[in-house]
Amino acid sequence: MWDGVSVRYDVAVIGAGPGGSAAATHLARGGARVVLVDRAARGRDKSCGDGLTPRAMHEFARLGYDPTPYHRTDGLRIVARERQREVRWPERAGFPGCGSVIRRVDLDAGLLDLAIAAGADLRERSEATVVRDDRGRAVGVDTPDGRIGADLVVVAAGAGSPVAASLGATRPRSGVQGLAIRAYAPSTRSTDRHLEASLAVRDAEGRAMPGYGWVFPLGDGSVNIGFGVLSTMRTEGRLNLRNLLGQYAASVRDAWGLGELERSWAWRLPMEVDRRCGPGWVAVGDAAGLVNPCNGEGIDYAMESGRIAAEVFLGEAGPDGTAAAYEAVLAARFDPFFRTARRFAHVIARPRLLDVLLGGAMVSDATMRLVAAVLGNILDDEHPRFAEFSVRAGGAVLGATERLWRRDGDAAAAELV
Ligand SMILES: Cc1cc2nc3c(=O)[nH]c(=O)nc-3n(C[C@H](O)[C@H](O)[C@H](O)COP(=O)(O)OP(=O)(O)OC[C@H]3O[C@@H](n4cnc5c(N)ncnc54)[C@H](O)[C@@H]3O)c2cc1C
Repeated sequence: MWDGVSVRYDVAVIGAGPGGSAAATHLARGGARVVLVDRAARGRDKSCGDGLTPRAMHEFARLGYDPTPYHRTDGLRIVARERQREVRWPERAGFPGCGSVIRRVDLDAGLLDLAIAAGADLRERSEATVVRDDRGRAVGVDTPDGRIGADLVVVAAGAGSPVAASLGATRPRSGVQGLAIRAYAPSTRSTDRHLEASLAVRDAEGRAMPGYGWVFPLGDGSVNIGFGVLSTMRTEGRLNLRNLLGQYAASVRDAWGLGELERSWAWRLPMEVDRRCGPGWVAVGDAAGLVNPCNGEGIDYAMESGRIAAEVFLGEAGPDGTAAAYEAVLAARFDPFFRTARRFAHVIARPRLLDVLLGGAMVSDATMRLVAAVLGNILDDEHPRFAEFSVRAGGAVLGATERLWRRDGDAAAAELV
């Protein structure tokens, strides 16, 4: 046992991003007494592309979040040098045929409001650490206002979190991670209805750039523009993400009628961790390494893993069985896809291979639709069709040939400026 508890809850959630707010909302709706602790105040911003796929829209519906006031997208545009192709979002497995772009400052405040409305107690401007008993079980959290006891601690503290690291939820030595920077800019095409992703990017002088660029229209006169690299990429010298973003913006300035970039901010996208749960605690979202290596999507997985943690805790597993049951659900639902996607992150880090793959993908609308479904994990494993079989076959081939193409890049040393 341990002392000094000033108050007790069923669940203490650390972090009020999409993962923490989703977990708190589902838990509180299910009757649990929940405290949601965030070191920032409601309305904090987050470095993000703000892009939401049909997968995220599907999860919004489960959560009861209404994205209709914000800009809607109908599909994806892939640009690879002089080629480009547009596809509508695949409509399948209950995923709607639409996406959205919502500034994180708005989205996170909206999701947090759902948690508060459901009955979660918010402690904002309060940095938390996990308290463990003498057997190592998480038994609550310490905050500047005192110690809070809880049957379960949900660690939703985001990427690079010291709280998650203190529990062993750290990136494996050669694990895949993304590094990306975003900015906002005025644009004459802010109402465009496609998310645009540029692969095989060239700078204004026509030189190949390591990484991928995006322009996501916000519908309010501005766009979210960003540039990301995977840690698997080989680079010449140390990468400076701000410079890369500047070069990418110059290359799309005319096409998008871009104004000056503002509020640029770089951060990590964790794509695997060593541990994502233990006695008395579970990690969700970025703290659990749940970012899709194929497209950098993490908001949906944060909300989904938050929901899964809640369902397991409220279900038969109970407080003692939550960690094991949670791990089993993640392993079944996410691991096969994420394992293949991480392998894919090694393959696409090789420019020549990427060129070949893009050539095949952009051949027709049908191949592009397939690529959009696969990259966005808009798949239906219960009723597998061509896309699902392609992922399974691709995963098997990549697994069997891994030693031929796997290599650890050095882009992980990019400067987060
Ligand atoms: C440049 C960039 C672009 C991206 N683009 C996209 C995109 O377009 N679409 C997409 O789906 N994903 C994107 N992602 C990924 C996405 O931003 C994350 O996956 C998502 O924010 C994860 O949500 P989360 O709830 O796990 O963590 P976060 O959103 O990071 O929330 C963590 C919360 O924990 C709080 N916190 C941390 N430590 C403590 C502590 N000790 N005590 C109390 N509170 C604490 C923080 O204040 C924060 O509120 C992008 C990421 C980056 C860096």
